[in-house]
Amino acid sequence: MLRASFPNMADYERAEAAPAATGGKDLPIDLTVVVPFLDEELVLPRFCSALEAALDALGRPYEVIFVDDGSTDSGPEWLRDHAAQQWQSARVVSLTRNFGHMSALTAGLDMSVGTWVASLDADLQHPPELIVELLNLAESTGVPVAQAVRRERSADSVGKRLTAKIYYSGMKRFGTVETPANVADFRIIHRRVVDQICALPERARVYRLLLPWLGYRTAYLDYEAAPRAAGRGKYSPTRMMRLALTSLTSFSTAPLRIATGIGTAVGILGLLGALFVMVNWVLGTPLTGWPSLMAAVLIIGGVQLVTVGILGEYTAEILEQVRGRPRYVVDAAEPGDTDSPSARRQAAPTPETDHVSPWDRGPGSQQ
Ligand code: UDP
Ligand code: MG
Repeated sequence: MLRASFPNMADYERAEAAPAATGGKDLPIDLTVVVPFLDEELVLPRFCSALEAALDALGRPYEVIFVDDGSTDSGPEWLRDHAAQQWQSARVVSLTRNFGHMSALTAGLDMSVGTWVASLDADLQHPPELIVELLNLAESTGVPVAQAVRRERSADSVGKRLTAKIYYSGMKRFGTVETPANVADFRIIHRRVVDQICALPERARVYRLLLPWLGYRTAYLDYEAAPRAAGRGKYSPTRMMRLALTSLTSFSTAPLRIATGIGTAVGILGLLGALFVMVNWVLGTPLTGWPSLMAAVLIIGGVQLVTVGILGEYTAEILEQVRGRPRYVVDAAEPGDTDSPSARRQAAPTPETDHVSPWDRGPGSQQ
C-alpha cells in the first residue's frame, strides 16, 4: 500500500509522534497527481525528475498515480523499478489494454485519495512545476478548480492548430457549455469536485467539457506549452476526430437539428422542383433527360445518408451507455495494485482541518 511521502521532516515527525491525530494512519494526502501515459519510455525519466522535484518542493504529503494505458514499451517496467526503488510516493497502475486517454484519466481520478487532484500529460508539454502554482491559485482564490490554459499553440503542427481551432469554435457555436479555447487536461480540482465527477453516470468523459458543465467556479492560469519532449504524439487524426464526435454527441444535439433543417430544406427544394416540372408539362414544354433526375437522386440520397450517420453517432453513444461496461479494466500486476478504488478511498486518512478549503466549511459556503 502506498504511503504518502513527507518531504518536509516536520510533517513526518508530526505523523510519527501523534498517530492518534491521524487515526493511527499516515498523514492524509493533500495532493494526488494523476498521469495517464501510453508508450512514453523516451520521456518518462525526464518527466519523473521534473515532477518529483516540483512536488518535493511543495512540502506537503502527496501521491502520484501513473496510469499505464496499455503501453507496449518498457515505460511501465522502468517506472515500477524507479517508483519502487526511489520514489515512494509514486505508484503505477496498469490498465489491461489501451482504453484511451480519458478512460485512463478516469481510472486515476477513481483511485485518487488526495484533498486536491491534479492531472497532466507525461510528455512535458505541461510543465510539472505549474502544479504548485495551480494549487496556490486555487487555495488563494478559494475556488475548487484551477485550470491551465495555453497561451498560444506555436509549438503545435499546422494541422493540430487548425483542428484545435475548428474544435473549440465548433464547441463554442454548438455546445451547451462554455469552455475557454486551448484548455487541456492540465488542472487541479478539489476532492469535492472529484467526487461529483466520479459519481457521474455517463460513460463518455471529455473532462474539458464536463467540468464547465458541473459549473464550479474556476480560476485560470496561462502557460506556455513546450513541444513534446520526446516520442510521438498519441492523438492520431482518427483519435482527434473521435474525441470531437464524442464531445459533440455528449454536449450538443445541434447536429440532429441541423440534419432536420437540411432535410426540410432539401424537401422544400424537391417540392419546388416538382412544381416546376408540372408547370412545364401543363404549358406543353415538358423537361426531358436524366441529368436533372440523377442530381436530385444523388442530393437526396446524400442528405439521407448523412442524416442516418448523425443518428448513428448518437445511437452508438446510447448503446455504450446502456451496455454499462466499465470504462477501464485494471491489470493487477503487483500485489499492491489489487486494492480497488473504493478500498483505497476507505483506507485513506481523513483530511486535516487546517488544509480544508473555504468551500469545505459546510452548506451555504461559497463553491
Ligand atoms: N495518452 C494516453 N492514452 C492514449 C493516448 C494518449 O494515456 O490513448 C497520454 C499520452 O501518453 C500523454 C497524454 O495522454 O501523456 C496526451 O497525449 P499526447 O501528448 O499524445 O497528446 P497531444 O499533446 O498531442 O494532444
Ligand atoms: Mg502532448
